[in-house]
Amino acid sequence: MVAVIRLDNPPVNGFSHRVRVQVGRELDAALGDSAVGAIVLVGAGKMFSGGADIREFNTPAALEKPTLRDLIATIDGSPKPVVAAIHGSAFGGGLEIALACRYRVASPDAKLALPEVKLGLLPGAGGTQRLPRVVGVEEALAMIVSGDPVGARKAKEIGLVDELIEGDLLEGAKEFAKHVVPAQVRTQLDSRLRGNDIARGNDALFEAARAEAARTKRGQVAPLECIACVEAATRLPLAEGLKFERERFEKLMMGEQSKALRHIFFAEREAAKVADLPPDTKARRVERVAVIGAGTMGGGISMSFANADIPVTMIETKEAALERGLATVRKNYAATVSKGKLTQLAMDTRLELIRGTLDLNEAGTADLVIEAVFEEMDVKKDVFRRLDAIAKNGAILATNTSRLDVDEIAAVTRRPRDVIGMHFFSPANVMRLLEVVRAGKTAPDVLATAMQAGRRLGKIPVLARVCEGFIGNRMLSHYLREANFLLEEGATPQQVDRALTQFGLAMGPFAVCDLAGLDIGWEARKRLAPTRSKDVRYSCIPDRICEMGRFGQKTGRGYYRYEAGSRAPIPDPEIEALIVDCASEARIVRRQIGNDEIVDRTMLALVNEGARILEEGIAQRASDIDVIYVYGYGFPAWRGGPMWWADSRGLDKVLARIREFEDMDRVHWKPAPLLERLAREGGRFNP
Ligand code: NAD
Repeated sequence: MVAVIRLDNPPVNGFSHRVRVQVGRELDAALGDSAVGAIVLVGAGKMFSGGADIREFNTPAALEKPTLRDLIATIDGSPKPVVAAIHGSAFGGGLEIALACRYRVASPDAKLALPEVKLGLLPGAGGTQRLPRVVGVEEALAMIVSGDPVGARKAKEIGLVDELIEGDLLEGAKEFAKHVVPAQVRTQLDSRLRGNDIARGNDALFEAARAEAARTKRGQVAPLECIACVEAATRLPLAEGLKFERERFEKLMMGEQSKALRHIFFAEREAAKVADLPPDTKARRVERVAVIGAGTMGGGISMSFANADIPVTMIETKEAALERGLATVRKNYAATVSKGKLTQLAMDTRLELIRGTLDLNEAGTADLVIEAVFEEMDVKKDVFRRLDAIAKNGAILATNTSRLDVDEIAAVTRRPRDVIGMHFFSPANVMRLLEVVRAGKTAPDVLATAMQAGRRLGKIPVLARVCEGFIGNRMLSHYLREANFLLEEGATPQQVDRALTQFGLAMGPFAVCDLAGLDIGWEARKRLAPTRSKDVRYSCIPDRICEMGRFGQKTGRGYYRYEAGSRAPIPDPEIEALIVDCASEARIVRRQIGNDEIVDRTMLALVNEGARILEEGIAQRASDIDVIYVYGYGFPAWRGGPMWWADSRGLDKVLARIREFEDMDRVHWKPAPLLERLAREGGRFNP
């Protein structure tokens, strides 16, 4: 007889304490029942198992016996063959338990992964020891270091799955189990591992994996520990390898990087919650979308909607601009097709969903209109006045403005309740962050709709209130201010960029400015010039660069110069001379600047402004700010975002450092009152 043990804990059959107790009991019963010849382990509902139950994270229940490792040890030592029958997903601990089974069968739609590295961990229940023994070193490294899933067919190919079962999985698995009993029972896993077979000739693989991790996962410890564990699997017997893995796992679990990555994991989920929405708020339906402006952002936003199967009309004023916009969309899709990441058929379907027109009246049928025209208040007001006359009742009117006052835009319409900011990031079809900007009069259901629309696009919507630059760009201004001050005081653009990429940012500030276009910030500074006090320190470097017609990569020159067709920044003596001039005009004596100062000046500028944003209620919570910086500004997730980074450093220390800077500049470095209070109370931004 074949005993069936079912994992049943919706939605992902996580290994909560209750599930572990039940599985342990059923295993014991099956092992003790002489009528049972084999055991099948199967998931109820949509999948086999997603692994640990995240609701138990950081609770005592997570440690209660039996642990997942206890169950795995029982299965591993079972004299009766255990077969894992996998459908949907077998992730993390789910795959580790399946790896301890003598056999694995799967339905063709199944996906298998050990994604722990994404939380700064490694598979700590035997995954790093068993997977290489089952599929070999190369495939195991690929799966464990990337954390990405493999499909069932690939799993069959590499030997991770013994048989694919079309049709009824459980029946197929039982049939399979009957056939392997008792004659074909394979030897115990440890001896199956061809002993040290897998040890030979793998040095090059480990070296290549380390080099790749240093390049693509710069600064992160977990990928290197994953590699070390797989290497251990090739050198140590299973029991010792499991011990080695356990030690490394516990070290990562206690380490700062995993804590930061787990913070971001939960922060991302938390960001979806709007604290003060009435509970009965229902999102409006969004079936048709219009995007006004077919420029950089309009095109990317339209692609995002088409990618989510939502028809969208792009509206321009001039034929040439519309043609250019549509051509860019086509070119971007074609590039994805040529990389093999999209089929021609999918590209055609998506292109069919994007229509172009010069007639603004066509916005009249849209449920959601997103304005992405030039960043000029008068142009935007004109568009919203006309939209007010055209849009149907109940349509949502959103602006993609980066910095402008959404209340002022809303005020030109007779329906300010329907107006909201939906601030996408460039390239909009790629970047996952969406800042949803709630204006003073925005209706709750409009807000709920914008958040929901963001999720439908696969984005991470984060709520902000109105102020100059909202959350992300408001903080960015302070960061860029310090970056430019550092130039005046003695640093070079390449030194600042290098210090910050070493800190972990995806790109340094000046390389980013050159990529985004320097004219954008210049326009904003010109607009704000009348409100700037003459007594406050201001760096003229970025304005001077723009006055020279150097707008960054698009003009081949900015903070750096660029060879035709290349994106590689080359230091430019012309800029170094300009920096020296600006410094002497400002009567600054240039000095040697260390990397620590570069990191502290720029990062603490973010933190101090983040504290004000939090205190003013522009952001709902500190973790929202962290999510914005990780997903929109290339802040390293393994440092948890700027506010988490400050928390980890200790707010008393953060404040002390800011006070040192305040001695040099009383205006810009005035500590945020919230920071002062929390530092005094021993508190944190992220409670
Ligand atoms: P862009 O100059 O590339 O495109 C603007 C487009 O709007 C142009 O094609 C123009 O012809 C069109 N346009 C102007 N007036 C119009 C009107 N009345 N009706 C229809 N079309 C009109 O600019 P962009 O970079 O796409 O920026 C658009 C908006 O998105 C701005 O508010 C900008 O601040 C914001 N934004 C830009 C970025 C970025 O990185 N570029 C990021 C986030 C937000």
